[in-house]
Amino acid sequence: MNQSVAYNLSFAYNINMAYICPICGFSKLKTPTRNPTICPACGTRFGIDDSSAKFPKRMSSAGIRRELTLAWFESGMLWWGSGRERPKDWDPKIELRNTEFYKNLQSEI
Ligand SMILES: [Zn+2]
Repeated sequence: MNQSVAYNLSFAYNINMAYICPICGFSKLKTPTRNPTICPACGTRFGIDDSSAKFPKRMSSAGIRRELTLAWFESGMLWWGSGRERPKDWDPKIELRNTEFYKNLQSEI
C-alpha cells in the first residue's frame, strides 16, 4: 500500500472514530469526542468524567476508559438521554463492540 493511501485510510478512520463514544461505543455522536460533549447513550461528559484528575494518578487513559465502560455496563447499559431520544435501532450490546474494552476482551479469550 502506498503511503498516501495509508495516510488517507488512517485519516478517515480517525475522523470516524471521533464520532464513536469510546466508553459505550455509541456510533452516532453529533460532535467529536475531543470537543466538550456528552454522549447521549452513556452520559459520559468528555473532558469531565474521563478527566485523569478523577482517577488514581498512574492510571492510563485506556484504563480510565475501561473503568467508565465497566461502570456503565454494570449499571445496566441504559440510555442516558439528555434531550436526545433513544434511536429505535439502538442496541447497547452491539454498540459496545465498538469499544476498546470489548476488543480487548476478544483478544484475551
Ligand atoms: Zn457513550
